[in-house]
Amino acid sequence: MGLLSGGKGTFWIKRTRLFGKDTFECSGCGRSFTRPSASCPGCRAKMRKIRTDSGWIDDIEMLDAILDD
Ligand SMILES: [Zn+2]
Repeated sequence: MGLLSGGKGTFWIKRTRLFGKDTFECSGCGRSFTRPSASCPGCRAKMRKIRTDSGWIDDIEMLDAILDD
């Protein structure tokens, strides 16, 4: 999986669903997860931002702290 190690500029893409939970898709490996984290559980890229329909969320570490169970 070394191909995926260049995590520069990797971010979450928030996919809002009408029914069910929102998902967060990794821009690096394309896998989707139910919540964003500071690094992708799939390819371990460092995540810096979340892209939503309305713009960007920058402070992913704060988000991670809020969402962490
Ligand atoms: Zn990934």
